[in-house]
Amino acid sequence: ADVKVLPDIQASKLKVTNTSRPLPKCEPEELGFGKVISDHMLMIQWSAAEGWNAPEIVPSGPIGLHPFSHVFHYAIECYEGMKAYKDSDGNIRMFRPEKNMERMNVSASRLCLPNFDGDELVKCIKELLRLDRDWIPQKKGYAMYLRPVMFSTTPWLGLTQCSEAMLFVLQSPVGPYFKSGYVPIKLHVDAKYIRAWPGGTGNVKFGGNYAPTVASQIAAAKAGCSQALYVYDKEEWVTEAGTMNMFFLIKSTSGTLQLFTPSLEDGCILPGITRLSVIELAKEWGTEVVEEPLPLKIVIDACEQDRCLEAFGTGTAAVLQPVGALQHNGKDYTLPEDGFAEGSFQMKMLAKLKEIQYGEIEHPWSVCI
Ligand code: PMP
Repeated sequence: ADVKVLPDIQASKLKVTNTSRPLPKCEPEELGFGKVISDHMLMIQWSAAEGWNAPEIVPSGPIGLHPFSHVFHYAIECYEGMKAYKDSDGNIRMFRPEKNMERMNVSASRLCLPNFDGDELVKCIKELLRLDRDWIPQKKGYAMYLRPVMFSTTPWLGLTQCSEAMLFVLQSPVGPYFKSGYVPIKLHVDAKYIRAWPGGTGNVKFGGNYAPTVASQIAAAKAGCSQALYVYDKEEWVTEAGTMNMFFLIKSTSGTLQLFTPSLEDGCILPGITRLSVIELAKEWGTEVVEEPLPLKIVIDACEQDRCLEAFGTGTAAVLQPVGALQHNGKDYTLPEDGFAEGSFQMKMLAKLKEIQYGEIEHPWSVCI
């Protein structure tokens, strides 16, 4: 029998409809994070019968969906977060976009959503960025945040494998994630709500992972902390904090410096692209990276013995977030201030990542479009 090969995403088929009503722009300082949408969005429809339709760039605005659409009932949805930066010459640069495409395909597979050709989607995203290039702030710390999102629009209430889906790429010009800048935050160890567990979905960027963490966020705020640090099981395995991967720079009892980060193998952690970049740079610098399951006790013991020199979170939004303290079972563990001062490991790492992202040094991770 003939096996019909359905079309994948094809950038050469991209149709562009320019907006006739440009949206209001604001000063970069007023941007905040994810509040402003730019003029255009990318939209691609998929069906089991036809495969991926021709991609379209259309004016940003509301979309209509059947009320039975699976996404509303069963949260069949995955997304990505990536940034495009404008360098001092006005070039637009993406940071390791192929990694986001790979991860989105892994997420899609976990949810039985369709896969797609990531290179072709990146080509469409580049067109989108070029079209709205005036929306990309040209200032260090600022960027165009890109939000690819895919969901099942399968229009019946029965829970089945996806037969219809939509993929969007939305654009939001953004400023620094934390208004106060790189001020260290306090993490609240959340033993009540578990974010992820082996065999679950913690390792994919699935909207359903995020909904229950609003309660953790509120609990953290009530405890006087700014983010939840998620752990699981009796050993209190460290997973991640808020929407960031975690790193701890610890001096061993024999005096060697080690950068600890929880490993990916139990599937409880999102494989962050900033995380990967930090690991790769740290190894290049000759720092010993310990990527293993990490019981909280290792961190707590190190804090108590003044051996935990630095702690920080990583993610696209904030890039790198210093951690100044942890709260565990009502007790505070404070990290030394040198840990996030000028010259610290994390400040060097942040500077390096920014240099790459803003094209101040040539680096293969920065893709000039
Ligand atoms: N963990 C979670 C739960 C996240 O949502 C994110 C943001 N994507 C990250 C970690 C950091 O990943 P990345 O460095 O790819 O942005």
